[in-house]
Amino acid sequence: MSEGEYDNSSGDPSEKLRTLKITSLDEEEDEEDAPMVDDVYEEEDDEEEEEEEGEEPVSLGFVESPKHSWSLSRELFASVAGGTPAWLDPTSLPTGRSCLCDFCAQPLQFLLQVYAPLLHKESTFHRTLFVFICPSMSCLLKDQHDQWKRQPEKAFRSVKVFRCQLPRFNSFYSSEPPRHDGSDRPTRNGAILCSWCGTWRGDKICSNCRIARYCSEKHQTAHWRSGHKIECRQPYMAPVASASTISDLPAETQKVASNHLWPQFEIVNEDECRDKKSEYDGFDKSLVSQSQMDEVKSLLDTFEVGGDKRSWAAFQERISREPEQILRYYRLAKTKPLWPISSGRPSKLDIPRCNCCGGPRACEFQVLPQLLYYFGIENHADSLDWATIVVYTCEASCENRVVYKEEFAWVQLLPQSAATL
Ligand SMILES: [Zn+2]
Ligand SMILES: [Zn+2]
Ligand SMILES: [Zn+2]
Ligand SMILES: [Zn+2]
Repeated sequence: MSEGEYDNSSGDPSEKLRTLKITSLDEEEDEEDAPMVDDVYEEEDDEEEEEEEGEEPVSLGFVESPKHSWSLSRELFASVAGGTPAWLDPTSLPTGRSCLCDFCAQPLQFLLQVYAPLLHKESTFHRTLFVFICPSMSCLLKDQHDQWKRQPEKAFRSVKVFRCQLPRFNSFYSSEPPRHDGSDRPTRNGAILCSWCGTWRGDKICSNCRIARYCSEKHQTAHWRSGHKIECRQPYMAPVASASTISDLPAETQKVASNHLWPQFEIVNEDECRDKKSEYDGFDKSLVSQSQMDEVKSLLDTFEVGGDKRSWAAFQERISREPEQILRYYRLAKTKPLWPISSGRPSKLDIPRCNCCGGPRACEFQVLPQLLYYFGIENHADSLDWATIVVYTCEASCENRVVYKEEFAWVQLLPQSAATL
């Protein structure tokens, strides 16, 4: 097997993340003997000047509408934002408390997944990180309280991250690269998912029609109220998929009844351009309207600490070079995340070690608030909002019997939200 072969087989932009990884992994391998772990943390303790000069090219993620109905199917290994997850291991999904917000006990909603294989290890030939969040802002505010507690085993979270990885030869997918022509199929079906959210396992079945499946009583109730009450009595009319499209779809594709899911996008990536001039002062290309921008600028005044003012301005400046970015990927660049608010940065003690191997975690990517705009989340006082979500993953990307290994997210809120705590 040649990594190059697998890699060059497709010109699809979704392949690009993988291409980037391969090139840089050589460097990573060279450094394998060095005590990287300590270095990473030493750096993190340094003061903020360093952050402003961190100009290593990072990979930026942008959202695009999927080109085909099948573009985001799990056998194509895309990075996805919104809609439902494309589970990498489609059978051993997270269960129990892992699927729930620890505050309101509602099933978490799918935010995004990043396909980030590490080709220097057989076990991480396929590797995807999944991020889920409770859509309730009041839960995220409580989460903020708990994330500082430094008791990871007892932490209550409304944001959860899972890491799943598979070797090239596995029982779910072909060992050959996908052709991206609509003919790719997984080699095995996945678990049946909830008819309402399409996200979590549908282990509970409607006792009446015995067709609808649910992850939770909450989703059964939601489905019942939104129309299953009627469908359930006419099981033959239960809309699984319309007859004209069913033949084009893989067997497991099913209609998701919930209309609360966020719109689904493919995440494509490109390197951050070093030379690009900042557009901080002329927000022409910015997604956000001028009035929103004024609001963001006036946020500067709410920072009392000089460091926060500086970090907020530096954050805005850096982001405005590519104002549509929704994600910054760091594992290659080995650089630090851009913190919007310097006083709200975690120290190394705030990042719990890997629950599986006990090893250190490193920052892998950060999600930007631009994603809220694409999801159509409006700017109300109680609507979901964040300044950034930084995802930390096991540096070793360790193997474990647990198929979906829980990783860690650090969330920073904008000061106006944080003030309501
Ligand atoms: Zn919640
Ligand atoms: Zn559900
Ligand atoms: Zn039913
Ligand atoms: Zn680990």
